[in-house]
Amino acid sequence: MEKLIFRFNNQGSQSSFNSKNVLGGKGANLVQMAKLGLPVPPGFTISTKACEYFYKGSKRIPKKIVTESKKEIKIIEKITKKKFGDYQNPLLVSVRSGARVSMPGMMDTILNLGLNDKTVIALKNKTSNGRFAKDSYRRFIQMYSTVVLGIKSYFFEELIENYKLTKGVIQDTELEEDDWDGLIENFKEVIKEKTKKKFPQDINEQLWGAIKAVFLSWNSKRAKIYRKINHIPDHWGTAVNVQAMVFGNMGNDCATGVAFTRNPSTGKKELFGEYLINAQGEDVVAGTRTPKNLLSMNKSMPKIFQQLKKIFKQLENKYKDMQDIEFTIENNKLWMLQTRSGKRTAKAAIKIAVDMVKEKLISNKEAILRVNPNTLDTLLHPALDEKAEKKIIASGLPASPGAASGKVTFSADEAERLKEQMQDTILVRIETSPEDINGMHAAKGILTARGGMTSHAAVVARGMGKPCVSGSSEIKIDYENKLFKSDDHEIKEGDVITIDGGSGKVMLGKVPTVKPDISEDFSKIMSWADQYRKLKVRTNSETPADTKIARDFGAEGIGLCRTEHMFFDEKRIISVRQMILSKTLDDRKEALAKLLPYQRNDFIEIFKIMNGLPVTVRLLDPPLHEFLPKTDKDIDDVAKELNMSHNDIKSRIIELHEQNPMLGHRGCRLGISFPEIYQMQCEAIFEALAECKKKKIKLVMPEIMIPLVSTAAEIQILRNLVDKTAEEIQKKHSIKIKYHVGTMIELPRAAIRAKDIAKYADFFSFGTNDLTQTTFGISRDDSGKFLNDYVENKIFNKDPFVSIDERGVGELIKIAAERGRLEKKSLKLGICGEHGGDPASIEFCEKAKLNYVSCSPYRVPIARLSAAQAYLKKKK
Ligand code: PEP
Ligand code: MG
Repeated sequence: MEKLIFRFNNQGSQSSFNSKNVLGGKGANLVQMAKLGLPVPPGFTISTKACEYFYKGSKRIPKKIVTESKKEIKIIEKITKKKFGDYQNPLLVSVRSGARVSMPGMMDTILNLGLNDKTVIALKNKTSNGRFAKDSYRRFIQMYSTVVLGIKSYFFEELIENYKLTKGVIQDTELEEDDWDGLIENFKEVIKEKTKKKFPQDINEQLWGAIKAVFLSWNSKRAKIYRKINHIPDHWGTAVNVQAMVFGNMGNDCATGVAFTRNPSTGKKELFGEYLINAQGEDVVAGTRTPKNLLSMNKSMPKIFQQLKKIFKQLENKYKDMQDIEFTIENNKLWMLQTRSGKRTAKAAIKIAVDMVKEKLISNKEAILRVNPNTLDTLLHPALDEKAEKKIIASGLPASPGAASGKVTFSADEAERLKEQMQDTILVRIETSPEDINGMHAAKGILTARGGMTSHAAVVARGMGKPCVSGSSEIKIDYENKLFKSDDHEIKEGDVITIDGGSGKVMLGKVPTVKPDISEDFSKIMSWADQYRKLKVRTNSETPADTKIARDFGAEGIGLCRTEHMFFDEKRIISVRQMILSKTLDDRKEALAKLLPYQRNDFIEIFKIMNGLPVTVRLLDPPLHEFLPKTDKDIDDVAKELNMSHNDIKSRIIELHEQNPMLGHRGCRLGISFPEIYQMQCEAIFEALAECKKKKIKLVMPEIMIPLVSTAAEIQILRNLVDKTAEEIQKKHSIKIKYHVGTMIELPRAAIRAKDIAKYADFFSFGTNDLTQTTFGISRDDSGKFLNDYVENKIFNKDPFVSIDERGVGELIKIAAERGRLEKKSLKLGICGEHGGDPASIEFCEKAKLNYVSCSPYRVPIARLSAAQAYLKKKK
């Protein structure tokens, strides 16, 4: 069996000795601190490997660990000149967990181990402080009983509280030695009653019990949940650190504290921390006493304050990162108990990274890697005021970040009407359809009961930069009575709610928000990211407003302009409906002619903003019935406007109905059946270019994209149509137009036959929403219902609609890229599904050698940073 126990000091030079994988984060950092010559109480680490053996060997502590631990205890005894279990000068130890990555508060810790009825007397005599000794003993009994013996802590807390009540005191510190003596006896009775055994007096039994409990805490419910949320593998296990106790509660020349080397909330370079005189670590965290600001230590313990300042600097120089530190002062001697990289807000992460480059502690490459791209969201959108009170009534998927409050409304039209009256609304729908687009625009936020992360509501909201909580199955919507229920709450139309699209929470009433402020440091990190990244970053956008936002965020083109979104404007929808309801080609052409000027003007606007950058325009994609009226009242309105009968429209709706519209008459299939639709759209694009040329607007390079292609023949036919239309417009306006024609790769067959398809395509854009849907055969709108079960059962690591499934969907992308480029070396490759804004998927795109990613406007900065990180990680 390999080495399983490591001493903090005398580690030698073998690098594995400070490997976090073996020693856990806490152990590895204790070794580092000892190496730096900092005052670290002696001790040893039982490795994470031992935890693995523990679980493999029917949860027993391996023999080797018992014998070696005994040897190590002897060494601690030698250094401290104390003896474990001694009746004169007893050694006490702490037993703490320590995983590879910090899992704060998730696993167990036991302090003051080694105390029993006899050693506690020795401790009293040695320190001449009976109160301290008994207080330590009762703390140990409490901790040991809850962690090792599994007795609920409130049995003990209740005893203390009742005792204080009868004595008429408020603080624990007001209790004397005698009081604790009595309480210790009471504690022991509880233990006897609950376990049918006496509290263990054998200090070795205590030690093995504590080590075993720490190993077991790796699999506690809370630790498992934390691992799941943070994607920490279950097999890593925890190390156990056994260390000589030092005491911050032995008198007024003792203290204990926690500190950050920089402000973790703002990132400012200042000492930030708290300490308590005459206290143990848990008192600082527990909130029973109000800790003092660390800066005041300059007055109360000036020498130690200066020593601490020096150590903070040493640690920052060593780790080249902001540190989160725990320390204890025992009789005017400082002891360092822990250092680790400190958790921080997104704002602080950016400031610290930029400052550390200025201070020459790290390179700008390292600074890029220090900022978690996902956290940037919190800087770009308004966020809930952390201090505000919140009453959570439901939760769903965090579909589009940001927080918004408003009156509940159940219809898009009502949201629009209220907007005209300057009222804020939250649009609440079972699910949204393209017809709700006006209401989604008008509302401050969107809440749906159904739908996943790539449902219509989620995609559109992200595109608009609007907060959205989707798939909140806890809410039951009753459209008829205009209310929704969640648990025992009933929310009526007009009641105010708040949604937080970053966490997926729905709250009662208006929760105040705070505005984001985009700092200079943010721009600095972004400019460094741009310097290194290879992937271009484009945006998915179809409105001038979104396009402008995306450009301001640094988008280098439009990767997906979904033209159908342009059809839903109130003035146009009627012509769209006329086009769909037409029975003859001539009627259809007449309706299309009405739509053409609208589309042309949209393109002119967008081309202007994009100022010469590439713009990928996707021709009509969704099935036609999505555009048709749904309710009888809507049908009546349309009938009146188009001079048709209600029944005529109804029968056409029935005709167009599909069992499975996602796999039905949509995408390029529409272009094959109704070429005049695509022809009109191409005319609008080319005429917009001609107009731009006339107005001397810098010409963009349009990339016309055909959706849902599965065969070479489809793109061949439709490319001909585009080319023919281009020729006509060029002739008509006597101009020369440059454009590209390409296809989406969003069906497995298209990926496999990429070589044939590339013959007719200048570019491929991977539509990973549909490609994920069709590869798994899982509906993107219905996956929410069972996705959790799949994650729970470890079938999926993450939602494949959020992070690309590299082994399946990713494999298809690689195949398509390789086969496509085999046919055409110059083939441009990009991704425009929602994955284009997901950091993990962007890393995959870099590895797969794509040319660009395209994402919703608010994710552009995230994509820029992720692309740089992906490149730098690849180079490492
Ligand atoms: C896709 O399928 O990934 C895509 C971008 O198209 P849409 O979401 O519009 O189907
Ligand atoms: Mg698609």
